[in-house]
Amino acid sequence: MTAPLHEARSGTPDTQQGMRRRNLSRVMHTIAADGPMSRAAVASRIRLTRAAVSTLVDELIRAGLLEELGPERPGRVGRPGSALAVSRSGPAGVGAEVGVDHLAACVVDLRGEVRARAERHVSNRGRAPEPVVDDLAALVRQVSEEADREGLRPAGITVAVPGLVARDSRTVVRAPNLDWHDTDLGALLPAKPPVTVDNEANLGALAELWLGERAPGDFVHVSAEIGIGAAVVVDGRLLRGTRGFAGELGHVPVHPEGPPCACGGQGCLEQFAGEVAVLRAAGLDPGEGRVGLLAERAVSGDRRVRSALREAGTAMGIALTGTVNLLDPQTVVLGGALSRLAPWLLPSLEAELERRTAGPACEIAVSQLGSEGPLLGAAHSVVRAVLDDPAGVAHSA
Ligand SMILES: [Zn+2]
Repeated sequence: MTAPLHEARSGTPDTQQGMRRRNLSRVMHTIAADGPMSRAAVASRIRLTRAAVSTLVDELIRAGLLEELGPERPGRVGRPGSALAVSRSGPAGVGAEVGVDHLAACVVDLRGEVRARAERHVSNRGRAPEPVVDDLAALVRQVSEEADREGLRPAGITVAVPGLVARDSRTVVRAPNLDWHDTDLGALLPAKPPVTVDNEANLGALAELWLGERAPGDFVHVSAEIGIGAAVVVDGRLLRGTRGFAGELGHVPVHPEGPPCACGGQGCLEQFAGEVAVLRAAGLDPGEGRVGLLAERAVSGDRRVRSALREAGTAMGIALTGTVNLLDPQTVVLGGALSRLAPWLLPSLEAELERRTAGPACEIAVSQLGSEGPLLGAAHSVVRAVLDDPAGVAHSA
């Protein structure tokens, strides 16, 4: 199957033009997934004639999306035997991330390789959106200039944010840990290339789906950082909910009479298993690099740290019980910065889930992408959009 596994797209009209665009996408996806390969191999994979594939391939080479490998022979470009690969230059995806205590940007080429990356540690809690976006735009410029020197051209930017994003894919409706409300981030960033804004947990889950070593098509991805988000993937698609707000696991109550939360509720999961809560329970002040310190102390057997992590795991297990009972996912994948602490979080989390779920225990896996997930998911969502509609990119260039 070469059909893209990503979110629902509006269907292309079933005209000859629509068919051509779909076939261009099938060629790109096939070579991106399993290339380099010959025209003949592509033809047999997607069940088109060699002649039809050659026409599509020539168009993609002209648009700079594919390149031919093998010995260069002037005047013989396009000979049938030479291997085709996705281009290392041309359109690329830019990912950007607004974290509570950091900003990051990266450029990923169509082969999926990270070609430029920059990061800045800065506390964004309570900062107005404008200066944060200015700082973020500076990072984006930096990585774009670096990529430009290698012949890469941003086809779009996706920004990951720790908050609820409206269905317009540009407005941050609410980001409690930043204290942002109804912020049109799209309007604050340059109009070109096109900007998409999405929730960090959604992008972390998409990264897991596209890049994860063992991601199944049905899973719940938990993104545990300062805030705790989750994203539900069903049949290889992200479940967004009516308004786009699905997956707010961090605000599922664990103890209904517990401490107040920035969301307006009480006793939410974030109050027991968010980074700040875990650090406090471990007797540490919140701050940069603290997850590493927690891991070090847990390794050395610090009893207070281990107990804080055990309690956080229990709270996660309680909060996830509802999700697992309701959705019956194949796997729960623990991602985000706190996934580094999995060895000390998982035993109590699993015990709690096992005790409380109706069916046999659901498998728990740890993301290999960790805190890079949302940024990679952001850049790759642009790359996927190019692979899904290469003709659209070629024309907008
Ligand atoms: Zn809350």
